[in-house]
Amino acid sequence: MAYARFGRDSDVYVFLSTRGGIECCRCALIGDASSFVALTTAEILEHLEQHRTRGHRVPDDCIAALDADAEENDAQIAANDAKSRR
Ligand SMILES: [Zn+2]
Repeated sequence: MAYARFGRDSDVYVFLSTRGGIECCRCALIGDASSFVALTTAEILEHLEQHRTRGHRVPDDCIAALDADAEENDAQIAANDAKSRR
């Protein structure tokens, strides 16, 4: 599920990655068409704050949705992480 897609009101593309983590796809902060992957909601929120600091548009509803799903997403990422270490 995508929290934000590139568009008129958004310079970021953020989604819950099936590989585990919350991904900032083709992140403008990294450049090079690379993606940033956060392993916690707190980490992606901090990352998106950095985008805003640099003048990139991050939709408010993206932040709100990430906040709302924080518990669920963090639990899922932790579960994926535990699985991959087995
Ligand atoms: Zn980014």
